[in-house]
Amino acid sequence: MILIALGSNITGPWGSPAETLDRAVEEIAANGADVLARSSWIETKPYGVSDQPGFVNGAIEIKTTLPPEELLVMLHGIEIAAGRKRREKWGPRTLDLDIIAYDDVIMNGGDNSLNLTLPHNDLHHRSFVLLPVRELNPSWQHPVSGKTVTQMLDELAKN
Ligand code: ADP
Ligand code: MG
Repeated sequence: MILIALGSNITGPWGSPAETLDRAVEEIAANGADVLARSSWIETKPYGVSDQPGFVNGAIEIKTTLPPEELLVMLHGIEIAAGRKRREKWGPRTLDLDIIAYDDVIMNGGDNSLNLTLPHNDLHHRSFVLLPVRELNPSWQHPVSGKTVTQMLDELAKN
């Protein structure tokens, strides 16, 4: 599966965080990907930097012929169209689009400034990623650890 995580916690040119995620799905579909499924959008607490508005998060499953790095470039273009300015790590943003997994592709930074890491290096620590992915496919397995999304959520709840 190719899985994209979406997040937003400030209103931008496309509207509220939930409206921004809706529009982002349309833009992804208009730019070379088929959207096969989308999770519900959930409200979550900020991660990393707690002094900022809550987030709306979700995930989609897509199908595309774009290779991973071209897909990430496409997603960055959509983030910018949604008014994103890259500032603080984990800080407020109108739109964040991360590639959670691209089938079973494993990449450790690649060889250019995109620094693409697949599967996403922090996905197992983030319930706001795992919950929407579980909604799409509870038996999805992490390509490196082999753990299912359900197992990863159980481990997070214990720690
Ligand atoms: P974060 O998503 O961690 O809040 P950013 O969206 O600013 O932060 O992403 C930081 C960098 O991470 C981007 O420049 C991007 O090229 C890189 N990156 C590496 N792997 C991935 C991935 N799997 N999905 C999205 N971005 C990634
Ligand atoms: Mg990101």
